[in-house]
Amino acid sequence: AAPETTFKRVLLKISGEALMGDASYGLNPPTVERIAREVKSVHDMGVEICMVIGGGNIFRGLQGSAQGMERTTADYMGMLATVMNALAMQSALEKLGVFCRVITAIRMDEVAEPYIRRRAVRHLEKKRVCIFAAGTGNPYFTTDTAATLRANEMACEAIFKGTKVDGVYDKDPMKHDDAKRFDEVSYDEVLAKHLGVMDASAIALARDNSLPIIVFSLDEPGGFRSILDGTGTYTRVGG
Ligand code: UDP
Repeated sequence: AAPETTFKRVLLKISGEALMGDASYGLNPPTVERIAREVKSVHDMGVEICMVIGGGNIFRGLQGSAQGMERTTADYMGMLATVMNALAMQSALEKLGVFCRVITAIRMDEVAEPYIRRRAVRHLEKKRVCIFAAGTGNPYFTTDTAATLRANEMACEAIFKGTKVDGVYDKDPMKHDDAKRFDEVSYDEVLAKHLGVMDASAIALARDNSLPIIVFSLDEPGGFRSILDGTGTYTRVGG
């Protein structure tokens, strides 16, 4: 029998960089497949899964505008980058037999279905993984904010933020041996101490709707599932 979990519906947020593997740009198909298998193993537990994938492996609006591009145009390019990542993940999930829909905040009917909240909820009820692409559809936002927005709209119980490390630390654990991991940390502490979990508008939106953010390591094989079945380590941002 599948292990028990108390979660019924969650949103997994990963950055675009998570799909790069060892490359410095773009998509590494074996890495995408590895993450798809992580998602499948949680899907196999009967959990309804939403996903938001960033676009930073391809394009970031701020980088473009720092090099002289008009900011909103650069942001739209960033949003389009998230659609490519979403399509790659859809393809990898379908290869594993997981039904899946890419749902885009910017209409492109030939590529993916438009965001219609009730329709997305229906997909989840039918156990289809919903990948929300194109961020919020608005410039000046990030995919962290998009993840928080969609998690609220879909009534997810938590956002699972997959990172390179197994939680939130008081300082960068990649650089400091004595960095300490929090088991639990409040939204306000994350904001006050600039703990870099997600950007400030995403944290505030989560706080105002009491949506917990679970920070865990996606590099750890079986990491996502280990949080769901209660055996893994993580930091819970809430309260
Ligand atoms: N973006 C945007 N509005 C949104 C979400 C994303 O304008 O609602 C743009 C923004 O330019 C951003 C890029 O898309 O830099 C890629 O998203 P993000 O930086 O969040 O990706 P990640 O860092 O998670 O890979």
